[in-house]
Amino acid sequence: MTRRWICLLLAVLTMLTCTACGEEEAPGDVALGYDDPYLYTQIGGVLHRISPHSASVTPVCPDPLCKHEDETCPFYGVESIQFAGQYLYYLKMSRNWDGTSALCRFDLKNGTFRELYRPEAGTLSNFYAGEDYVFLNLGGVDEEWNNYYHILRFDPDTGEAVQLTKEPLQESQTPLLIENGRVYWSGDGHYSTDLEYQDRKDGDRGYSPNVTRKDHVYELESGEIKGEEGYKQMCFRVVRVDVKTGERVTVTEDAASAPILYEDRVIYGKLEKLRYLGKVYDEETDSWKEQYDKYGGKLYICNSDGTGERVLCDLGDAPYAFTVSHGILGGKTGVGDWIALWVFHYVPADENDPEKVKRAENAYLLVNVKTGEWKVAERETRS
Ligand SMILES: [Zn+2]
Repeated sequence: MTRRWICLLLAVLTMLTCTACGEEEAPGDVALGYDDPYLYTQIGGVLHRISPHSASVTPVCPDPLCKHEDETCPFYGVESIQFAGQYLYYLKMSRNWDGTSALCRFDLKNGTFRELYRPEAGTLSNFYAGEDYVFLNLGGVDEEWNNYYHILRFDPDTGEAVQLTKEPLQESQTPLLIENGRVYWSGDGHYSTDLEYQDRKDGDRGYSPNVTRKDHVYELESGEIKGEEGYKQMCFRVVRVDVKTGERVTVTEDAASAPILYEDRVIYGKLEKLRYLGKVYDEETDSWKEQYDKYGGKLYICNSDGTGERVLCDLGDAPYAFTVSHGILGGKTGVGDWIALWVFHYVPADENDPEKVKRAENAYLLVNVKTGEWKVAERETRS
């Protein structure tokens, strides 16, 4: 497997929930119970928010003296986030490789932070926060260096964590949804259980709110390998499934980036005529190599059934390039008419040679889904 493929796979796996049958689910925005005007991302492990209104990227941490550089910052080491009502839940992971982790909650309304639960041993992962409970995995390593997992149920009101599994599980199990007293899981197959992790019903499939829009869920399937020499990659087939009737509609076969679901639209990059970005220094060969953008600087949009596909925005000669994933956390991809995407930003690397460029800090491109207008959110720096 080439490094390019591994990178692509890792990027997509971080974005998507893999399902047992090899399908993957597409990410998208979440129906929030609280109207929060920001989008969230992590930069260097620190949780930031993006304001489409002011086109700025700022740390969520409200402490004016904090440098957000180590564990003492409550928003450092953020691994995954989920919105639930007025709260933003997240796992805060130690970066010291000691495996310690904590479940935390940020109150979007009041701007307050709470560390809810920190296990004495083991590492937290795969959580879902419902109205009353948070379900998570607590992982560990046995004497023979095998990973094992227990399922935990945490009650944010009482602070009580209950271990629901007696025997350790060999695989982690991802809670996708809590609905009508049932928890829907993906792990060793799709199944549901009651709130005690009992009464298991195999094949009872639930979908994460991240991939659900009204009565439809979106799945990603592997498509054909396409693209120009040196830039070939697997395309994704985006399939819309009607939850009630099971009807499946192919939205597109040509998505070459993880699609963004925003309201009833699907947004993605396709493999286009290569767009020249400049020469980038390659350490391995100690030479300057021509760098191209396989997406041609274009982003496409279509209706939820695949009709009405058109170019949403065209970056033209701008020094930005789309990536395979969009880098926005918690499944929330837009605010108002604006979505945000993580893009590579290329800046001059040699003042004597304008062709030589290098990757700058990541930038966030804000795109108006109605007009295609775009702007770049800048990171605010404190003096
Ligand atoms: Zn901080």
